[in-house]
Formats: sequence, C-alpha cells, structure tokens
Amino acid sequence: MTSEKKSTIKLGSRELDVREGSLDAGIPDGPVEQKWESHKFKMKLVNPANKRKFNIIVVGSGLAGASAAATMAELGYNVDCYCYQDSPRRAHSVAAQGGINAAKNYPNDGDSVFRLFYDTVKGGDYRSREANVYRLAEVSNNIIDQCVAQGVPFAREYSGTLANRSFGGAQVSRTFYARGQTGQQLLLGAYQSLSRQIGLGKVKMYNRTEMLDLVVIDGHARGIVTRDMITGKIQSHVADAVVLATGGYSNAFYLSTNAKGCNATAIWRAYKKGAYFANPCFTQIHPTCIPPSGEHQSKLTLMSESLRNDGRIWVPRDVNDKRRGNDIPEKERLYYLEEKYPSFGNLVPRDVASRNAKTVVDAGHGVGEMKNGVFLDFAESIGRLGENVIRERYGNLFDMYTSITGDDPYKVPMRIFPAPHYTMGGTWVDYNLMSTVPGLFVIGEANFSDHGANRLGASALMQGLADGYFILPYTMGNYLAQAGKAKVETSHDSFKEVEASINERIHKLLNINGKRSVDSFHRELGKVVWENCGMARNEEGLKKALEKIPTIKAEFWENVNVPGEEKNINQSLEMAGRVADFFELAELMCLDALNRSESCGGHFREESKTAEGEALRDDENFAYSAAWQYNGDDKEPTLNKEPLEFKDVKLSQRSYK
Ligand SMILES: Cc1cc2nc3c(=O)[nH]c(=O)nc-3n(C[C@H](O)[C@H](O)[C@H](O)COP(=O)(O)OP(=O)(O)OC[C@H]3O[C@@H](n4cnc5c(N)ncnc54)[C@H](O)[C@@H]3O)c2cc1C
Repeated sequence: MTSEKKSTIKLGSRELDVREGSLDAGIPDGPVEQKWESHKFKMKLVNPANKRKFNIIVVGSGLAGASAAATMAELGYNVDCYCYQDSPRRAHSVAAQGGINAAKNYPNDGDSVFRLFYDTVKGGDYRSREANVYRLAEVSNNIIDQCVAQGVPFAREYSGTLANRSFGGAQVSRTFYARGQTGQQLLLGAYQSLSRQIGLGKVKMYNRTEMLDLVVIDGHARGIVTRDMITGKIQSHVADAVVLATGGYSNAFYLSTNAKGCNATAIWRAYKKGAYFANPCFTQIHPTCIPPSGEHQSKLTLMSESLRNDGRIWVPRDVNDKRRGNDIPEKERLYYLEEKYPSFGNLVPRDVASRNAKTVVDAGHGVGEMKNGVFLDFAESIGRLGENVIRERYGNLFDMYTSITGDDPYKVPMRIFPAPHYTMGGTWVDYNLMSTVPGLFVIGEANFSDHGANRLGASALMQGLADGYFILPYTMGNYLAQAGKAKVETSHDSFKEVEASINERIHKLLNINGKRSVDSFHRELGKVVWENCGMARNEEGLKKALEKIPTIKAEFWENVNVPGEEKNINQSLEMAGRVADFFELAELMCLDALNRSESCGGHFREESKTAEGEALRDDENFAYSAAWQYNGDDKEPTLNKEPLEFKDVKLSQRSYK
C-alpha cells in the first residue's frame, strides 16, 4: 500500500476531500496466474469442527447468494439466508437469458483463461482490477463443471458435447446457454443445493423478509435488521459475518430491464454504515431492449444479446423513410455496425452497440411510431438456416417479443433500443470480497469489482457464481479464523438503536399523507438520471441533475402519499423506502459522473471523444476506481481513489474495427 495523500476537489459548487493510498485491495504478490492459488494456500482455515460455531447471514438468494449460502452451509457453517420474494427461485437472476461465459475452449477456436481475462479487462475499458479478473477467468471452467454436475441442462451439440455461442466483445464462442433461459436453469441448480442445506437444517431461509439496515458493532458487521413483509414485524438478526448478495440498482433509472423489485437499499444502508461505494456512475446500457411505447411505461424488457449472433442491426438510410422494414430494399438500409466495425460487426460490445444506436436515432433514422428504435432483423439467417433452427435457438425470446409488441419477428424485423440493464458500480470490496467494514462481504452484482466500466455479455452470471461457489467460501474462512469476535446478542444497544431508527422512518413515511404516489416520484427521478447520467453525459447536464435531485427528494419527503398499514402487506411502503434510497444514490451517481470527466466503457462523456466520435479515456487522470465514503447526511462524501495497475494487459484505445 502506498502512503496516503490528501487533497480536495471542486465539483460544481461543492468542495470534497480526496484521499489516495487510503485503500488496500489486498492483491496477492506474484504473477497474475499464480495469485489466487498462492493466496488460497496462505489464507487461514477454520477447522471443520469449528465451522459449526459460526453463524453467517447471507442477504439475497439469487445466483450469488444461493450459491454462497449453499456452499458455506455444505462446509459446515450455520447460514441464515434472506430474500424479499416468496421463494429464492424468484430472485432476479431467473431473468437472465443469453448465457454464461467460460474459457473451456470446447469449439477449439483459440480460447484460453488468458484470453477471457484479456477480453474482460479490455471490454471493461481498463477500469477493473487485473487480479480479480484473472481469478474470474480461472474459475469460470469450474462453474460449468459444477453446474453440469447439478444437472443444469446446457444446450448440447448433436454429438453430446456442450454447445457454445458468441457474445459481444469476443471473437471466440465461449458462452454456455440453456435456450434463452440460462439464468433460470442455473438458479434451479443453485436452489437445489440451497434446498438440500435447508432440509439438513444448515440454512434457515427467510422468504418475504427485507433487510432494512446493517448493524456494526466495534467496527465489525455483526447483523442486520429486517422487516417481515407479511406481518410488518421488525426484527434483529445477529451473526459473525454478513454477506450482501442483493443485486444491482438499475432501477434508479426507473425504466430498466430489471424486475420492479430490484433496489439498492441493502448496499445503500451499508454505505451509510461505512462500506465505501465504488464507481456508482458505471451503468451498463444494454443495446437490445424493446423500446418504450409511450409515457405510461413502467418496465422495459430485454431481448437477449445472443440474438445479435443471428440478427442484423439496421435503420433506413433516409431519415424520412416511413415504409415498413420488409418494404425497404437492401441498398436503402444502413447496417451501421457492420459498416463501421467490419471485424466485430453486430457483435461489438454493448457500450459500442448502444452508443451507435443512440447516434442513429438522434440523427432521425429511428424506426417505429415513436422513431425510438432500430431494427434487429432475422430474415437473412432464417433464409440461411431455416426457421426451425432460429426457433430452437431463440424460440422463447421470439414468443416474448410477440406477446409484448404484437409483431411476429419470424416475419418482420424486431425493434430494439438501449436501456439501463446492469450496474458495474456497487460496494467497494477488496480481493477477498470484503468491504471497508470488516466482516461485511459483498458478492454478485451488488459489488463493484470485476467488470470495470462496461460488462461483457454473459459475464455477470459467471461473476455471481464465481463469487458464491468458489471465492467467498475460502475468503470467509480466512476472516472468521482471525476475527475471534466475542459473541453478541440482539439485545445489544446497537440493534435497539437501528430498530428504533427503522421504526421512525416507517412511521414518517406513513404519516406524510401527501398528494403524489411513490411511483410518480420514482418516474420523475428516473427521467432526470436517464437524461443526465445515462448513455451520454456532460458537465452542464450533470450539474443540473445535482440541483434537481435534492429538490425532488425534498418534495418526496413532504408530499408523498404512502397508503396502507405498517403491520400488514404494504407494497407502497416497501417501494417508498427503496425510492427514498434511490434519491440519495442517484445524487452520488451524478457526483461520480461529474468527477469522471473521461469517457469510458458504458459511459460517454460528451466532452471526451476521439476524432471518430468514439469514447476517449483519460488514463493519466482516471485510471482508478472511485470509492465514495459517507460522512453524514449534511456533509460531502470523501473520494477515495484505488489506483489501477495494468501489468498483463496493455492499456490501449479499444478498437473493434
Ligand atoms: C433481463 C436480464 C437478462 C440478463 N441476462 C444475462 C445473461 O444472459 N448473462 C449474464 O451473465 N447476465 C445476465 N444478466 C445479468 C444477471 O442476470 C445479473 O447480474 C445476476 O443474475 C445478478 O445476480 P445476483 O445474485 O447478484 O442478484 P439477484 O439475482 O438480483 O438477486 C438479489 C437477491 O437479493 C435479494 N434482496 C435484494 N435486496 C434485499 C433486501 N433489502 N433484503 C432482502 N433481500 C434482498 C433478492 O430477494 C434476491 O434474492 C441479465 C440481467 C437482466 C436484467
């Protein structure tokens, strides 16, 4: 760790403290390909007989949480696992469609652990930690073996070997898939393992239970306080360590591909208890979503990136062309990705595909009644491969598209447009996946670690399962073996204080009795964040957003109407708590975006572009992860910089031409 350097920075009218050298990511020494092996050997172990003396809380039962809870219970720890759905099987991971990456190299097309590592660092536009990404690529192959052993029905070739397809940002086929429902099948695998441990009494599952705060005692995470979503009961839970696996926060934008329930409450509450929040402005905007059909829309639907394997993206060359897609002749179509990026074509990474879609739509080439989409056309591949092959590969996605739009994509091109989809930002964690609060671990989409400024497709499932099955179970033991904490009870004052503050907040929300619904505030906030901190940002817009968000937030606390009761099922109350947290997080997202005046990966800073209009990084000033530290509601946060070093992948301007 380097010595600490302090300075200040002015962002608009705000002055903030900056610290460099204040974070220790704990990256092991040695060559990148040996770091994890040697770290595993050096880490302390908990003897099997002692494991049952430790209690671990896992909040979240998606792929990250379910795999972690099942694996740690299998090791002998006592695990309490929480989710807000009525079953772990409904975690948002169930929605993942396209696939999961691994460096198995089954197609023999030149893949390797190093290539997956290299593609992921490059795809993330050099804003991730090399050591973490290498480890991710290294364990990717174990994940496939684990899931096959569980019976996950991955697609297979006629010969019986596992099939692969391609995703953006890679020139090899390394994506394993189960039709368009990979997340669901992987989750069923993890859920089976979790259920086995529930049956054995090693995991206690709390469904319909929402974590509302973290409890920190003597600087260590020692428990959580939850609300039973059926009875409204507020309850404290104690543990020797807490794991957050609570997913992403794209719903800060209101319209996103995430399920309506996805939220930031757990990691935001942890931030306010000392867990730094890294790169909040890094959001992935997915290029292939069904465009909104009007102002009333409350949810967007993803069409998997895998469709770009066989679908061709185009718009009419003439901005005034009002003909239906099928009526526009070939030479009057602009296949803008194929023309501009001949070597990757339609399989450029998500950030590049999204930005180019925005560019052509902004230039007036948009299709559909609202001119807010581009075509994804399967006519050529249906002609080449036959409708049956396309049905086999994407049947359920095509059915979903038809039921939402009324169009039949076997006959007419789909309409797609980018939408918020995944958040690369999240709780800052070290190499052991531990946050700046000792004993608080954060895994899966909820942490910030592995994807840098842009996640490559099919890498989130890989990361969630790597964290849960193969990394956390080791690093948790290392922490517990050394923590040696005295046992605490829920009668401890710290639990009582947190319970009291939660009750007070609930009471406050239920008694504002204003005139506007929670949803109307969420929609208004989302619009501000999307317009100013979305696919493209600039200084002026971000400053405006930083003025608007506190004003809308203040109105929320004076004029929101939360009907229903405290001690009953109350979805408005649940949403109100989450939206209140989104307001605060949105402000940090905009502050982070204002500070990062470079373009990189998923975020395009309009002031920073190459002569060809591509995103231009500023490695001299921004080759760091920005980890924000909470200092109090009426104080500015501190910016802690974790410098990123690139020893095995050379920093270069990304090119997919
Ligand atoms: C439509 C869609 C398609 C996708 N397709 C792919 C794909 O093909 N390949 C890929 O790699 N990635 C894909 N992704 C991304 C990937 O699915 C997610 O990043 C990943 O599944 C997240 O897993 P997770 O376990 O971290 O979180 P989640 O699956 O979101 O689980 C979060 C868990 O936390 C619980 N929780 C949250 N907050 C609280 C709280 N306060 N109290 C109690 N419990 C709480 C929830 O109940 C849930 O159990 C897709 C994402 C979307 C939206």
